[in-house]
Formats: sequence, C-alpha cells, structure tokens
Amino acid sequence: MNNKISKNRIIALISLISFLTVLIFSSAFVLTHADHEHDYSSTGEACSICVQIQGAENIFKYLGAAFFCALFVIGGLYAIVKTIKAMAVCAVFSNPITLKIRINT
Ligand SMILES: [Zn+2]
Repeated sequence: MNNKISKNRIIALISLISFLTVLIFSSAFVLTHADHEHDYSSTGEACSICVQIQGAENIFKYLGAAFFCALFVIGGLYAIVKTIKAMAVCAVFSNPITLKIRINT
C-alpha cells in the first residue's frame, strides 16, 4: 500500500516535471524565435519556424484552458467538501440535549 502511494507520487512528480519542461522550453522557443527570418520553401509551404511557434502557442492555449478548468473544479470540490464538513459538525453538535430543549411527555 505504501509502495503504491510512493509510486503514484513519483509518477505525479515526473508528470509535473514534464509539464513544466514543456512550458519552459516552449516559451523559450517562442521568445528566441519571435523575430526571425522566414524560410519559405519553393514548394509554397509555410515557414517551419512559424509553424513551430504556432504549435507552441496552441500548447499554451490548451494547457492554460486545462489549468483553469482544473483549478475551477478543484476549487468547487473544495468548497463542497468544506460545506459538507461544516454541516456535519452542526448536525453532530446540535441535538435536543445540546440545545437544551425540554421535551415534556
Ligand atoms: Zn517564419
């Protein structure tokens, strides 16, 4: 069980490092090649550097959208869990005895 948790943490760490590496190198590529000489080939294909920059921009766009979606979902789940915990505490501590309600039979 503990070994599985440690494997999951290692996988999560590797995923995080991969994610950050892609972001850093993509942004470095865009920054270093933003002002370049276009190399249009004679066949009429687009500039290869422009194509790579477009790909990096797409990575930023999709990862940014995924990041904000994940942040929104995690925030929503956190709020729901906090609300349920607060309601559970109220339900546990508010019974007729703790509220000092007199029940006449
Ligand atoms: Zn170009």
